[in-house]
Amino acid sequence: SPVVAVVGRPNVGKSTLVNRILGRREAVVEDVPGVTRDRVAYDAEWRGRRFTVVDTGGWLPDAVGLAAAIAEQARLAVELAEVVLFVVDATVGATDVDEAVVEILRRSGKPIVLAANKVDDIGAESDATALWSLGIGEPMAVSALHGRASGDLLDAVLSALPEPAPPETFGEAGGPRRVALIGRPNVGKSSLLNKLAGEQRAVVDDVAGTTRDPVDELIDLGGKTWRFVDTAGIRRRHRENQGADFYATLRTQSALDRSEVAVVLVDASESLAEQDLRIVSTVIESGRALVLAFNKWDLLDEERRFYLDREIDRQLHNARWAPRVNISARTGRHVEKLVPAIETALENWGSRVPTARLNTFFSELVSAHPHPVRGGKQPRVLFATQAGVRPPKFVLFTSGFLEPGYRRFIERRLREEFGFEGTPIEVSMKIRE
Ligand code: GDP
Repeated sequence: SPVVAVVGRPNVGKSTLVNRILGRREAVVEDVPGVTRDRVAYDAEWRGRRFTVVDTGGWLPDAVGLAAAIAEQARLAVELAEVVLFVVDATVGATDVDEAVVEILRRSGKPIVLAANKVDDIGAESDATALWSLGIGEPMAVSALHGRASGDLLDAVLSALPEPAPPETFGEAGGPRRVALIGRPNVGKSSLLNKLAGEQRAVVDDVAGTTRDPVDELIDLGGKTWRFVDTAGIRRRHRENQGADFYATLRTQSALDRSEVAVVLVDASESLAEQDLRIVSTVIESGRALVLAFNKWDLLDEERRFYLDREIDRQLHNARWAPRVNISARTGRHVEKLVPAIETALENWGSRVPTARLNTFFSELVSAHPHPVRGGKQPRVLFATQAGVRPPKFVLFTSGFLEPGYRRFIERRLREEFGFEGTPIEVSMKIRE
């Protein structure tokens, strides 16, 4: 969600105002310079619009003079935020420090909303009016303490936010979840499909309107209806012996495009093939949820099982987070375990971590495992937000370039903390330099 940064001198009431905006759902500590806070970012919502409020007061470095510290806040805010909420104490009026901040804010061209705080009584309105002199538009008279006019202020923030991105849609809203059953030829896709479909076999034409192909099947499993995409492609296999690999690749891509979760079927009785690994990578890159199904389990002996485990460890480490189900499409062994695995993967695929929790996690992570110093500099994660779901996407706002090893470490720790079994996650950076 878009970021709104709250900037202002200490004691102008930033934290109280942030509390107001959040409807006091979360506690914010005192607005005292130099106080180390463990959280700076919060989820907020107004008139159905979600955004992230960042209290830049949390960034005040200890040993820097006030003016420099506030300037630093302002610079960070304009770098990282979509909208800056600049808070001035109307009872004090614009100070030199405020003027300096305005300079920085104006140069950035970012939308600014000016909150004239501590206008507690009607009689104090003129204090707010005086702040027109700052030259950044209408001062919104508010009283963070009493909640006065905070709705108007939020309306002003809302209208400064960028247009919301259209929601991601996957097929018909509320329709059956879409599953792609993929894997190289002969791993047992059509056998598994037969096992799952049993007597049912509701063939559905593709909604996208292509003439006859691809065709989906609706299959009831575990009390729910699922849409298995492009099953015609799986069943038609035997007519396509020529160039089977080529068709398999094409089919994999188009099935993935139309699905939410992929069940990648692997023949466990044989060594993992290059093509198996390629298919798994394709799923991860597509951002779809992933379940690994090891088929033909009825053919495995003790020794093969041992080697399979080693192959998985060595070759499928990029999908370590995917649930694994060992099945036999022939005997039906453990086939029923596919559904809970798919459900887990889909749930995590759409999951959202509350911003406050995410930032508590990051502040602990960063203090326990700081980024190594490089060229005299030590990049820091200032705060993080989850920018999207399906799959979960995280944006780290940082004070410098995080090296790849550190980013992998962060991704690993995110998974340890929040799970995400069965879903890829994306971690990107917004750097201020
Ligand atoms: P597809 O190309 O992935 O659709 O694979 P098929 O479903 O056509 O299966 C390929 C071959 O593997 C067929 O001879 C199946 O009978 C066999 N097969 C599929 N699943 C199993 C299984 O679980 N155990 C054994 N032993 N054979 C299987």
